[in-house]
Amino acid sequence: MSTLFLRTLREDPADAEVPSHKLLVRAGLVRRAAPGVYSWLPLGKTVLDNVSRVVREEMDAIGGQEVLLPALLPREYYEATGRWEEYGDTLFRLKDRKGADYLLGPTHEELFTLLVKGEYSSYKDFPVILYQIQEKFRDEARPRAGVLRGREFHMKDSYSFDIDDEGLQASYDKHRDAYVRIFDRLGLEYVVVSATSGAMGGSASEEFLAVAPTGEDTFVRSTESDYAANVEAVSVPAPDARPVEGLPEAVVHHTPDTATIQTLVDFLNGAGLGRDFSEADTLKNVLVKTRAPGSKEWELLAIGLPGDREVDFKRLEAALEPAEVAILEEADFAANPFLVKGYIGPRALLDNKVRYLVDPRVVTGTAWVTGADKADHHVVDLVAGRDFTPDGTIDVAEVRDGDPSPDGRGTLYTARGIEIGHIFQLGRKYTDTFQVDALGSDGKPKRVTMGSYGIGVSRVVASIVEQSHDDKGIVWPREIAPADVHVVGTGKGEQIEEALRLARELEARGLRVLVDDRKGVSPGVKFTDAELLGVPTGVIVGRGLKDGVVELRDRATGDREEVALAEIVERTVAACRG
Ligand code: ATP
Ligand code: MG
Repeated sequence: MSTLFLRTLREDPADAEVPSHKLLVRAGLVRRAAPGVYSWLPLGKTVLDNVSRVVREEMDAIGGQEVLLPALLPREYYEATGRWEEYGDTLFRLKDRKGADYLLGPTHEELFTLLVKGEYSSYKDFPVILYQIQEKFRDEARPRAGVLRGREFHMKDSYSFDIDDEGLQASYDKHRDAYVRIFDRLGLEYVVVSATSGAMGGSASEEFLAVAPTGEDTFVRSTESDYAANVEAVSVPAPDARPVEGLPEAVVHHTPDTATIQTLVDFLNGAGLGRDFSEADTLKNVLVKTRAPGSKEWELLAIGLPGDREVDFKRLEAALEPAEVAILEEADFAANPFLVKGYIGPRALLDNKVRYLVDPRVVTGTAWVTGADKADHHVVDLVAGRDFTPDGTIDVAEVRDGDPSPDGRGTLYTARGIEIGHIFQLGRKYTDTFQVDALGSDGKPKRVTMGSYGIGVSRVVASIVEQSHDDKGIVWPREIAPADVHVVGTGKGEQIEEALRLARELEARGLRVLVDDRKGVSPGVKFTDAELLGVPTGVIVGRGLKDGVVELRDRATGDREEVALAEIVERTVAACRG
């Protein structure tokens, strides 16, 4: 440490809000060069390389072959797939001296597809998995939290190419398994959530989220099982349909001043109808408008859901994708006078050919209190499947803590996570654009199918710190720590000499050693730095040396033990291998 290019800081950087940002800067691992752009200093680079090594080993183990493609890419490839436009402001675009357009790669599907097209042509060539670990560039709207969301960041991106759907599924499964092994080895607590709803084919895309309260992604998990999902992907189990026979007739009631659910429920409970009503007994009809891609026309859509729930707009957007969705304006109500605000019921919607979709809980045989399409009037006991038949279901109601888990085990609660990995069955989107075919065994060309898979290597470093720190500093998992053991020599010459000698011996035993041999630095400062840097095992060569003892410390547990000098090498090796 007397020569290491390292300066630790006592104060948190002014722009830092999350623990990993504060600690990575204070421990001297990274330095900000521009918003969302960071330099990695020696200890940080070591950690980054350690994460990359784990990723490489597991990618190699599934047969991945490492390549390195340029980050500087010509416009034409991204023009071909439409992503030159689609990426919008997120894409870093630049021009060369001749005025030709280039971009800095945000992800590399285009170039990998063309690479494979150029080299391979027969079914015998496939499958193949190619990967790289490389800087990616995205002009994020809100770079935040240091390297957690950078504008330049490190990603492992891999791409699988297969001849058929079974092959793609196999490549996808291999990646999934490799990701599980990688994140397990990195000591991360994470969940795997499906990124798309069942409609798009179950596991066509999954995200790996590191569990952290500072994460930007919300997901739900079960109290009892390992079920976890993006809120957008939660599908509410539909109850069984019930018989409609024998249910009371629907009756319209005059319900003055009941435009809100609560006033309605209060009114009904005071109306002497012989039973109690709750918000969940009401059917609320929410109006939005949607527009198909490429179309100019907005179309009305009504969503019927139990009155105790709101429409979750993100779930709605995900459910309607690729169509756009917007809330209604006054002008829309004016143009559709059958929409009586506060009193909208299924009748008017269906009579006026408004597409009407209901929450999965609104099954045949359920009876509802809902609008009677007339100001100050509601209808009680309107039965689904008897009095109205919706056009279908839509699963967009907010998901709440305590809702039953879709897998039937336990209840849901919300948590937050950081997206550290994403695996995706792309299919033939890119191979269609670039017409990548392989000659099949029958002599006919077959369109190649693809998967793409990313891990945010630099984001992983920060995610580990988010999960593994205390008020004194970082607590590195051993696999990626900047060193196995931090030997601290306190005081003057003799203790420092002994620390250096021990360091050499430990190194000879195969350990990675950081040794604090700084002269004129107080023991207090050295201990504070050691805790901040977070190397898992510490050996303190202090005043006890004259009595032949040194101290063995464990950063994670805080345990300290005096150990005879003669035994410290064996004990340290054991602690590090333990
Ligand atoms: P996010 O939703 O967080 O913006 P994304 O879904 O756009 O991420 P992908 O295109 O799936 O990201 O990229 C693959 C991986 O790269 C992500 O799972 C994440 O770990 C990492 N990553 C993406 N954007 C960034 C960034 N700005 N900084 C650091 N890592 C990132
Ligand atoms: Mg993603």
